[in-house]
Amino acid sequence: MGQREMKRTSPVRVLPFSLENLGAVLPTPKMPREDCRICQAMGGGDSKLVKGGTLEYDTIPAAVQHLKYFMRLGEHVETNWLDICPLCDRLYYCEESYEYLIPGSEDYESYAPIGLEAVLKLAVASWAKATSKGEIRAHDDGTWCLVRDAEKLRKR
Ligand SMILES: [Zn+2]
Repeated sequence: MGQREMKRTSPVRVLPFSLENLGAVLPTPKMPREDCRICQAMGGGDSKLVKGGTLEYDTIPAAVQHLKYFMRLGEHVETNWLDICPLCDRLYYCEESYEYLIPGSEDYESYAPIGLEAVLKLAVASWAKATSKGEIRAHDDGTWCLVRDAEKLRKR
């Protein structure tokens, strides 16, 4: 399990970061969770830990395979992002981390449903707001990227 491929496509549209703009690009779920077969199967989401090559636990529902990539959070290593349910537009907060430890290593993954209010309160959103250099980028494959310091990114 490695990090996901970084998206290399250039943005088709760039919005200055503001909580209003972020709120405007986030979808509203089209139906209650109980009516969506994917979200029902996802339940509260869950996590998986592989320690030194050994699976410690894996409680991530199989329905996770139906979720689609929605928004990358931050411009650096991709460890947090939002997935979307393709049936009802409900969002999921996803985390993936890999730590090299001696002995062994730790590979952690988790998925949890997240509401719009909670997305606006994520650390990356607060940072983007604080730097006033944040951007919300739309990509041509329908995904988004929330960048907290666009100037720094352009210098690289
Ligand atoms: Zn759903």
